[in-house]
Amino acid sequence: MKIAIVGAGTAGLLTALDLCYGLPDEAEIELIHDPDIAPLGVGEATLYNFPASLGTIEYSHAENRHDLDATAKFGVRFKNWKGDGFVPFFAGSHGIHFNTNELAAFVIPRLKKLYPNFTELHGTVHGINGDGKEVIIGNRWYNYAIDCRGFNRTQRGNELPIHVNRAIVFDSMEPSPWDYSYHIAHKNGWMFGIPLSNRVSFGYLFNEQITTEQEAFADIQRIVDEGIDGYKPRYSSRPGNFRHYNFESYHAPSICNRNGNVFVNGNRALFFEPLQSTSIGAYGFINNIIMDAMCQGIDPNPRFRKLVEECIMFINLHYRNGSDYDTPFWKYASMRSQDLLFKYDLHNYNWEYMIDTFQMKERMYSNFLYNCWSNEKGN
Ligand SMILES: Cc1cc2nc3c(=O)[nH]c(=O)nc-3n(C[C@H](O)[C@H](O)[C@H](O)COP(=O)(O)OP(=O)(O)OC[C@H]3O[C@@H](n4cnc5c(N)ncnc54)[C@H](O)[C@@H]3O)c2cc1C
Repeated sequence: MKIAIVGAGTAGLLTALDLCYGLPDEAEIELIHDPDIAPLGVGEATLYNFPASLGTIEYSHAENRHDLDATAKFGVRFKNWKGDGFVPFFAGSHGIHFNTNELAAFVIPRLKKLYPNFTELHGTVHGINGDGKEVIIGNRWYNYAIDCRGFNRTQRGNELPIHVNRAIVFDSMEPSPWDYSYHIAHKNGWMFGIPLSNRVSFGYLFNEQITTEQEAFADIQRIVDEGIDGYKPRYSSRPGNFRHYNFESYHAPSICNRNGNVFVNGNRALFFEPLQSTSIGAYGFINNIIMDAMCQGIDPNPRFRKLVEECIMFINLHYRNGSDYDTPFWKYASMRSQDLLFKYDLHNYNWEYMIDTFQMKERMYSNFLYNCWSNEKGN
């Protein structure tokens, strides 16, 4: 079996890790990517599947964390989100925060060393043709290909009930002692804080139909001036330190083509707002779906649709009762999420719904969340 993985961003590398480990030894896996096309450079917080996949190439957090500027992630701390609280990962498990720009240099040499049937090829892929019995890329053929080339610039959003569509990302050069990600509700949306070993990456998320860029910057200034539970960000206010991302929430109509030989993963497969690292969590599930389709002939599309639906529900569960702010954004977001949850008859679900989704244990969810978001509270 010959397989091409196209793209060496987080999704392509995670797919290479999972397929090298999960498929039979005789599978030949080729990673094709263009080193002149930089990966997106965000997506630094993960779920437990990510260090588990890195473990297959002998990543040890104690020994190798410096290679990825990594810190351990034991959960997510919520602030101003109808109170403050902490959602821990279940006992004994952890994710990591890591520098996406260092990932390829860490993963690819180790894959080459551990898997004789793994190869790397540099080049620009202009098309992946899976119309025939084989998949053709340039003048090479494969049985399967997984397209992990990131956002497709021509792809249109699906107008999903996802509430933010714009991010301003900046780095604070003051490391923090946090061993969790921060999700801070603010009046226009929410902000992530991701602690790496040498910096903290912040992302102010908002909806540009409701909030102007000027208002967003003024609010960033306020949050930074106040500090976050005693932590004072130290950052350059030069425009170059601020990176802007516009995004439309999106999922591919199906996870593979009609022939079942070309799959998508990463931002080509789905993108929702980055609450609780749903993206990297989902990429791991997609890899399982792909391997089950290749090896056991299990139809991948119903499983993909279920994953998409569950990610959307999961995100909306965060919004349905609003936050500490009674502002146009929070009215809009909580009303939309309540409509959605009613429509799917999920309004009575609490966080147990997510336990199926991410196959986590019930104890992952602290009483904090149950109290904040369950219907019992009547919020
Ligand atoms: C502000 C923001 C914050 C986020 N935070 C998180 C988070 O904390 N956690 C999380 O799980 N997710 C997060 N995400 C989601 C994040 O986008 C993804 O986790 C991650 O970027 C996945 O990227 P990718 O590998 O799909 O694509 P990319 O990073 O864009 O990589 C694409 C790869 O394909 C290659 N390539 C592209 N075109 C070609 C071509 N024609 N030929 C050959 N090679 C090609 C490139 O060289 C590159 O290697 C965030 C997203 C945003 C916008």
